[in-house]
Amino acid sequence: KPVRIGLTGGIGSGKSTVAQIFAVLGIPVFNADAIAKQLMSNDEQLRARLIELFGEKTYENKLLNTKHLAEKVFTDSFALEQLNAVVHPATIAAAEQWFAVQAAPYVIKEAALLFEAGTAAGLDAVIGVYAPQHLRIHRAIKRDGTTREQVLHRINRQIDEEIKMKLCDVVFINDEQQLLVPQVVHFHKQLLERINEQETRLKIQAV
Ligand code: ATP
Repeated sequence: KPVRIGLTGGIGSGKSTVAQIFAVLGIPVFNADAIAKQLMSNDEQLRARLIELFGEKTYENKLLNTKHLAEKVFTDSFALEQLNAVVHPATIAAAEQWFAVQAAPYVIKEAALLFEAGTAAGLDAVIGVYAPQHLRIHRAIKRDGTTREQVLHRINRQIDEEIKMKLCDVVFINDEQQLLVPQVVHFHKQLLERINEQETRLKIQAV
């Protein structure tokens, strides 16, 4: 059974960039946000629930109408809660199935909303990726071609970054001074050593 490590951080913090580095190191990554979108598009039960909640327009030619959904939940926090209450359990179940079939010493579950969604439960440790807010805004605008207002609106819906980082067991700093790769490699080496020690201990106990 692989050790389960969460990976989180605010918009534009560099989560996906860190996830790519883990993938290069051969560590399997579960991208909870991408899987949630896939499930909303393809899972029949989920589709039916979403149509009940948000209307027929939730799908257009069988495809998820993300624009319609975004409009529904953008300014309505109750609607957003309803959406999460439907999507999160499905994503958690998918993650459990995925964990069960991974053959690696440890695996990563990447999610923007890890603590918000209560899905940090069941993880052995959580990594936070931290970048100062001005950099996050700048990177997100550049990547998505959105406006400063839209990015700020999304930021304001998430837990305050400083609080989120306090909830994490390890924090990688992704500002303009620190390089990400050495931080990820250092973490990777240390964790593998600890997992090996643990396994050796278990083997000795079993003798
Ligand atoms: P979101 O939650 O919004 O998807 P994220 O946390 O996954 O964001 P990334 O997509 O990894 O963030 O990074 C945001 C943007 O900033 C990307 O375009 C990425 O290439 C860029 N970026 C991340 N880290 C750095 C860095 N250290 N230097 C320069 N650009 C960076």
